[in-house]
Amino acid sequence: MIDHYDIVIIGSGAGGGTMFQALGATGRRVLLLERGDFLPREKQNWSPVAVWGEHRYRNGGPYLDRDGTPFSPKQHFYVGGNTKVYGAVLFRMRERDFGVVQHHGGVSPAWPLAYDDFEPWYTAAEHLYQVHGRHGEDPLDPWWSKDYPHPPISSEPRIQQLWDDLASRGLRPFSLPMGVLLDEASPNTSPCIRCDTCDGYPCLAKAKSDSQTICIEPALAQFPNVTLRTNARVVRLETDPTGGSISKVVVDRLGSREEYSADVVVLSAGAINSAALLLQSASEQHPNGLGNSSGVVGRNLMLHHNSALIAFSKIPNPTLFQKTLGINDFYYGDSRGDGDWEFPLGATQMLGKQDVSAFDGPDAADLARHAVEFWITTEDLPSPDNRVTVEADGRLRVSYSDTNAVAHQRLIDKWKSLLETMQCREEFFEAGHYAGGRNTIEGVSHQNGTVRFGTDPATSALDVNCKMHDLDNLYVVDSSFFCSSSAVNPTLTIIANALRVAEQIDLRM
Ligand SMILES: Cc1cc2nc3c(=O)[nH]c(=O)nc-3n(C[C@H](O)[C@H](O)[C@H](O)COP(=O)(O)OP(=O)(O)OC[C@H]3O[C@@H](n4cnc5c(N)ncnc54)[C@H](O)[C@@H]3O)c2cc1C
Ligand code: SF4
Repeated sequence: MIDHYDIVIIGSGAGGGTMFQALGATGRRVLLLERGDFLPREKQNWSPVAVWGEHRYRNGGPYLDRDGTPFSPKQHFYVGGNTKVYGAVLFRMRERDFGVVQHHGGVSPAWPLAYDDFEPWYTAAEHLYQVHGRHGEDPLDPWWSKDYPHPPISSEPRIQQLWDDLASRGLRPFSLPMGVLLDEASPNTSPCIRCDTCDGYPCLAKAKSDSQTICIEPALAQFPNVTLRTNARVVRLETDPTGGSISKVVVDRLGSREEYSADVVVLSAGAINSAALLLQSASEQHPNGLGNSSGVVGRNLMLHHNSALIAFSKIPNPTLFQKTLGINDFYYGDSRGDGDWEFPLGATQMLGKQDVSAFDGPDAADLARHAVEFWITTEDLPSPDNRVTVEADGRLRVSYSDTNAVAHQRLIDKWKSLLETMQCREEFFEAGHYAGGRNTIEGVSHQNGTVRFGTDPATSALDVNCKMHDLDNLYVVDSSFFCSSSAVNPTLTIIANALRVAEQIDLRM
């Protein structure tokens, strides 16, 4: 006899963790299978050397790149997935992002649903994940039905100065939407202490809105009908003899095989690993991989074109919590008019503070004291050649080439043109150690698109409710379902979609 549940969820990150909470609340028996363990709570959580120098919490890979060279991806397999270390910037996609957008590098295709379909779920997601911000401050904010649950996070003096300087040039800086459990009115009781080791670090104070803190632990405490199994790596999904339903979820649990079955199976292992698991589960009925009659599974991988850029302020920058400011004036080009360029460029936001260990040489301390860090993102476009495949020996290959690099360089140039306005020195630094920046495939943190949703089973693997077209009880709710990547951070959209799909699963059951 194998253990049967109403719902089995695979992976506990933004998609899976949110699903666990939402479906746990329905009273159904829900099992969450997570390949990782709990991320240890220890002093090293907040150590720049441990996190950036030693990559203490990176435990995915190695994967192979297109040429077969191994690399260590920026992946974190723990309860809470990559939200354990994320920067907690929780953006809505813009209305236009859901439609066709022409970019310099090609076309960003339309989603099968519009922004209006997502709006109620974005609102629910912002409230569940306790987001701070002020709708409308960002000039490109889409419409909203309810305010954020918390006010924007205040900027420290050097960043407020930056804000004022940018505004003086006609730009429109705005407060980044942040998922941290901060109560600025009551610092003595606020869980978040607004520290300088947030973006990229696990939160030792458990004050970051990651899926463990916000969804998984509350669900385990509240609902007797939910179960979490850690160190439970799903290695194969098997179907019934017709090939139409998942009948068995096969797990490798620290070397032992376990099997589970469920009325509904929800896959949320991250865009790279979900695609890999589907491909690895090929069978007689699904020769190209499970649910892959369209051939799109594993294809159209998008990573964003990201750069971590460090400017050097002419006066010291003693900011601790730096992620309080964003600039979207260049999202669809230059809002101040740019005659010879008609294509979108992307988003700019502050990056978390880097400490002295990020710099080399005799001036390292001085550089760190003056550093002002930025993260800039350009939309990546879906290409069937950018894909995840599985080698005969089980290793994952991530074949990826830039799709929109000219626009990204232009966005960097725009940013460079603001250095003087921002009272920064002319020279700047591209932070290579902050993997995820340009020219490194290690930065798979914004991965999406590998199992896209759509109305046509010939060109998509999932239907509009994220159920596989080819299978009647398998859903995929991590960032795999994206049709295009927009240029904003992906996680709020993953959370909103998980809440949307949870309702669909509840209705069907
Ligand atoms: C340093 C960093 C900073 C980031 N900052 C931001 C930010 O500020 N804003 C933002 O929107 N996004 C940010 N991101 C991206 C964000 O973390 C991801 O978008 C988000 O976590 C993706 O959610 P997911 O559910 O798709 O997958 P994940 O969070 O990756 O979760 C997948 C889970 O599945 C598990 N798993 C994988 N394979 C299996 C298997 N075979 N069996 C069982 N379990 C499995 C993994 O262990 C993992 O827990 C950041 C990421 C990183 C690394
Ligand atoms: S800033 Fe707040 S949420 Fe982030 S790591 Fe520090 S205490 Fe945690």
